[in-house]
Amino acid sequence: MKLLTCGFLFALIFSIDSIEKARFDFYRVYEVKAENENQLKVFQQILDYPDGYRFLTNAPAVIGMKAQLIVPPHKFGEWSELVKNFFIDATLIDDNLQNSIDKEEARYLKRKAIDWNSFWRLNEIHSWLDELAASRPNDIRTFSVGTSYEGRDIKGVKINVGGGNSKPSVFFEANIHANEWIGSATATFIINELLTSNDTNVQRLLNYYDWWFLPVFNVDGYEYTWTVDRTWRKTRRVTSNPLCRGSDPNRNWDVNWGSYGGSNNPCSSGYYGDFVFSEPETRQLANFLNDRFTNLFGYISFHSFGRLLMTPYAYSTENSTHIQKLNEIGAKAVDEIATFRGASYTLGTISRFFGLVAGSSVDYVELNQKPTLTYCYELSTNHILPNDEIKATGQEIFASIKTIFSEAIDQGLA
Ligand SMILES: [Zn+2]
Repeated sequence: MKLLTCGFLFALIFSIDSIEKARFDFYRVYEVKAENENQLKVFQQILDYPDGYRFLTNAPAVIGMKAQLIVPPHKFGEWSELVKNFFIDATLIDDNLQNSIDKEEARYLKRKAIDWNSFWRLNEIHSWLDELAASRPNDIRTFSVGTSYEGRDIKGVKINVGGGNSKPSVFFEANIHANEWIGSATATFIINELLTSNDTNVQRLLNYYDWWFLPVFNVDGYEYTWTVDRTWRKTRRVTSNPLCRGSDPNRNWDVNWGSYGGSNNPCSSGYYGDFVFSEPETRQLANFLNDRFTNLFGYISFHSFGRLLMTPYAYSTENSTHIQKLNEIGAKAVDEIATFRGASYTLGTISRFFGLVAGSSVDYVELNQKPTLTYCYELSTNHILPNDEIKATGQEIFASIKTIFSEAIDQGLA
């Protein structure tokens, strides 16, 4: 009996300790481009029945659209046949994904303090927000959107310098997709710049607006990318399929939910969820925004990657009612980005780049909160990035944010 109990305990402890990290040895990453309808069908099939394939980006849904696809070793044969038979334009950009992940991890382990040379763990981001709030209690406070499926706080920070309830509010949402680490890094970079810059224009912006930041929206998924699978994109909620967890939280909102731009297979990285707002994270952020903001001025969503500055809509090819203003100010923001190191961002609607996508956060906010300025960024050029890319991205994107919200004041919009 004693032996049995010991055996049971050992099994329990072993099972808890034995969650291993996913490895991607010899997994390849290809940049692919859709050039005809047959190829679009192939890519949708890969999205629906991944069997080891995984898109690191949105899957190609319109002709001309590029994407990055992970191809596992057991698919090398099939993939080479697909490329040959369907004449797919595919360029190998990483011949061993695990090497790239190892290099990124080594940088993290080597650092001495948190800075913008490597990415931060979720607890580091949340502690940093707490420290900011403690250091300037009159101007900064943390807020909670709610609790994630796995019980984590969905924590953000609000900066309201000098008090006042009547300032225009700007809300930043980042890392809705778990593996897009540059999103939260850019958000924390912007917070730091806003609070520490001596630039009089930055101080004008800091004082003029209420700044709301949610650096990591998909907290469970983000933690999972650190502890188990660097490529994970979705939430972590149990689905109808016991083998496959999580939904794409940017397909789960109440905007033509489930109609296009995702997958109905719970095992797909593009699974749009069991039902509209099935994910506690999306439901609670929608409630939070609906409760707090009758008159939200700006909504900024950070994704990666592809160097795009996008405007609504995703669910429709129609233009939003204020597209002219979004384009005019967006063009200035894109010009400003290029002044740093020549990074060339392209401006356009989400549906232009990705085809029709239902259930996105940006469309939901655009239709419900009706901000004056709504933008969605695809930051940078990859998920796993060289050392200096975090700071460089932060600088150029902060410059574009300054441009957007300075223009809004100067033009009397805010
Ligand atoms: Zn994304």
